[in-house]
Amino acid sequence: MKVCVIGNGGREHALAWRLSISPSVTKVYAIPGSAAMSDCAELVGIDWQQSDHLISFLKDNHVDLVVVGPEAPLVAGLADTLNTAGIPVFGPSKAAAQLEGSKVFAKDLMKKYNIPTAAYGVFHKVDEAKEFIAQTGAPIVVKADGLAAGKGVVVAMTIDEANAAVEDMLSGNRFGEAGSTVVIEEFMEGEEASLLAFVDGKTVVPMIASQDHKRIFDGDKGPNTGGMGTYAPAPVLTNALRDEAMKTILEPMVAAMEKEGMPYVGCLYAGLMITPQGPKVVEFNARFGDPETQVVLPLLDSDLGQIMMACATGTLTADMVKWKDSSAACVILASKGYPETSSKGDVIHGDIKQHDTTIVFHSGTKLVGDEYVTNGGRVLGVVGLGKDLRTALDRAYGRIEHIDFEGMQYRTDIGAKAFK
Ligand code: AMP
Repeated sequence: MKVCVIGNGGREHALAWRLSISPSVTKVYAIPGSAAMSDCAELVGIDWQQSDHLISFLKDNHVDLVVVGPEAPLVAGLADTLNTAGIPVFGPSKAAAQLEGSKVFAKDLMKKYNIPTAAYGVFHKVDEAKEFIAQTGAPIVVKADGLAAGKGVVVAMTIDEANAAVEDMLSGNRFGEAGSTVVIEEFMEGEEASLLAFVDGKTVVPMIASQDHKRIFDGDKGPNTGGMGTYAPAPVLTNALRDEAMKTILEPMVAAMEKEGMPYVGCLYAGLMITPQGPKVVEFNARFGDPETQVVLPLLDSDLGQIMMACATGTLTADMVKWKDSSAACVILASKGYPETSSKGDVIHGDIKQHDTTIVFHSGTKLVGDEYVTNGGRVLGVVGLGKDLRTALDRAYGRIEHIDFEGMQYRTDIGAKAFK
């Protein structure tokens, strides 16, 4: 099978790497990919938005399956365009990708189908939003409706903070069109976990549970980021809780999408809060998480190409998906100034090659001459693998001691919650 991965971040590096070692996969292309992805894929300099050009390439090269990494092409309808051209796609249609593309869409659907999530209100006007905040009290959560690269959420500890977030989004136009509608949510107390699943339109098969670390600083301090590190499996989502989340959240949501005439195909990502009342949905994403992918895929003990093709063609079965009995931890190395700004062009020194028990996925790097330099907020994802989480973490952090660039920042407490 020839497979094409769309995207160029750390998630896509992990997808291309895992596909490249799948027995069913003979060739991996990456569009556009990143220089670092050339270790596992052939880079093709096509813009996915030029769909005629893209389709010609896929047909001329007999590509069997396209795997769409990021949310933007999905929300823009790339899966529909390729499906119409007869090319199987791992990734949801434009309609189904609204689960991520619009928080209002996702919340309304959860409400309609009794899927557990925080109580909420939807607002376009500052005054009405502020009135709701005054009535509900703090802590309270303010979210931009549309895509905002993981940064459109403010967990406000005070009413003033919540009001400021509403003004910023609705009047200040902070997120443009994506922030012209806000969702204001009840604050949920608990620990978070990410449960991703393979979905073929009807059948849902869970992946191994993982936990992200969204805040920039140790101890979950500082502003939210795209994610500073992950580990898997996450003990907070016990088998019993995972089964509950499947029964009350993922299976009903996939059934709901089918009933609504927009069957879901691809990776369905449920961001969960493990509350005293059980798992509740924080958010749905319509694609693999970044950096959850970097720890989940190395633990897969089955053929990823075969699973993804089964999702794209409606033939997924639970026995296709098996997991290794080991652990993985990913520590993100971010550039100076992240998440407010990001520094580019700092030379990355040290050992960033792949080894048996540590893998370095590139999130934001560029090859200049024969040196990799930083090229974004999140730069590298350093993954350690081991028989247990302690070993995996020690290997990831051990590897980081051999990597350095100007202004490099990372969290030193990834996985700490698992030992509480
Ligand atoms: P989201 O982009 O919706 O996942 O939100 C980003 C982060 O904000 C989540 O990972 C949570 O840490 C936090 N968050 C979002 N919604 C809530 C909520 N209703 N209660 C508590 N924390 C939340």
